[in-house]
Amino acid sequence: MSQKPSIQFLGAAKTVTGSKTLVSAHGKNILVDCGLFQGPKAIRELNWMEFTDASMFDAVILTHAHIDHSGYLPKLVKEGFAGPIYCSQGTFDLCEIMLMDSAHLQEEDAKFANKTKHSKHYPALPLYTTADAEKALTLFKPLPKNQWLELFPNISVQLLRSGHILGSSFVQIAIQDDYKPITITFSGDIGNNRQNVIKGPVPILETDYLVMEGTYGDRVQAKTDPSDIIAECVNKVAKKGSVLVIPSFAVGRSQEILYLLRKLEAENKIPEIPVYLDSPMAVEATRIYMRHRDELKLDSDEKSFIEPLCSHCFETVKSADDSMLLCMQEGPMVVVSAAGMLTGGRVLHHLKARLPNPDNIVLFVGWQAEETKGRLLQQGLPKIRIHHQEVDVEAEIQTADSLSAHGDSEDILNWVRMIDKKPKTVFLNHGEESALNTLRYRFENELGLNTLIPNFEQKYFLE
Ligand SMILES: [Zn+2]
Repeated sequence: MSQKPSIQFLGAAKTVTGSKTLVSAHGKNILVDCGLFQGPKAIRELNWMEFTDASMFDAVILTHAHIDHSGYLPKLVKEGFAGPIYCSQGTFDLCEIMLMDSAHLQEEDAKFANKTKHSKHYPALPLYTTADAEKALTLFKPLPKNQWLELFPNISVQLLRSGHILGSSFVQIAIQDDYKPITITFSGDIGNNRQNVIKGPVPILETDYLVMEGTYGDRVQAKTDPSDIIAECVNKVAKKGSVLVIPSFAVGRSQEILYLLRKLEAENKIPEIPVYLDSPMAVEATRIYMRHRDELKLDSDEKSFIEPLCSHCFETVKSADDSMLLCMQEGPMVVVSAAGMLTGGRVLHHLKARLPNPDNIVLFVGWQAEETKGRLLQQGLPKIRIHHQEVDVEAEIQTADSLSAHGDSEDILNWVRMIDKKPKTVFLNHGEESALNTLRYRFENELGLNTLIPNFEQKYFLE
């Protein structure tokens, strides 16, 4: 081989967004994940940095459809990438709605900035457009799971279920070297076996290198039943005639929440109050989940999947006008709306309307990254800025920790422990630094694994 295979970390790297890792071998450059940076402005601004030559990438492989792993693709295509984008069928189906939605949000943000002249730049331009997203979608080539496929001479890939959201996969890349193959496994976001809707991660047998996420690397999730806190919140708002707002990722979390609400109602643990799903994308995602029954835990004899997700007074909200009307409607009710970390979307309007009332409740059901509005609310801020307006925070803020779609430190350690032939190096590529440091300590001390935490753009040669 002319040059040793290498791996370079072009995103995430001590943060939880913008996942992008470059694997180079046999003259080919393969990008594993192509995520958007999200959260605080300083991090989001990294999205505006351009690759000097995006056409240098020969292929992209996605672990899953979440925007922090896929949302940079339309920009990459805009910059000149024209190669294949490989992923599972479930990931492709979800990307069809998520990339279009992401592009739409970019366009809306630019439009809003121009209307209110809030941007430093005038006119403010979207990072990418719906046309860029459409073009990116034409490059997708879904792959079957559980089998090795040769993508380029001497470079093969295999996708295995990672149990995080529908379609999410561990990506294994095998590079045939002069003497022996080198295998690299990317965990992407690893799930856990406690989710109700989606099946858990499969074990892997061996890998030479492991690129591992560690979002929850320093935490053990409460193993309490998340239903308890949901029931408590619903019962409170039912009694007070107020509103429970559940900010939720449209994909994965929303389906899980709807399932639990339906179950609680069926068990008579909560009364029948209106439940609104105010996210066209979540509705669409639910339909896609239905098409991939093999990945779901729900019994195969279950007549329909939508039904177990629909509580008695369940309604979906389609138009933006209806969403605004819902913000003014009196409770009791539950509103499930995106974005899950309050980085944008309709949920912000709901919060603007509901946060000043102490009878209302906001229930977080997923990870809130540093400096996001979600994290600020969890930290007990008395006021928060939404759409350039100060909003008093009087509502009760609750968190259901045990509902995460990520594995916690125990899940991660247990999964790595099951690998028969231990990796020679583990790279922790995705997570806040403190979480990664804890995870590294545990990997080194409990599992005896050589563990590295790469910096942004750091490159390593593999052998
Ligand atoms: Zn994810």
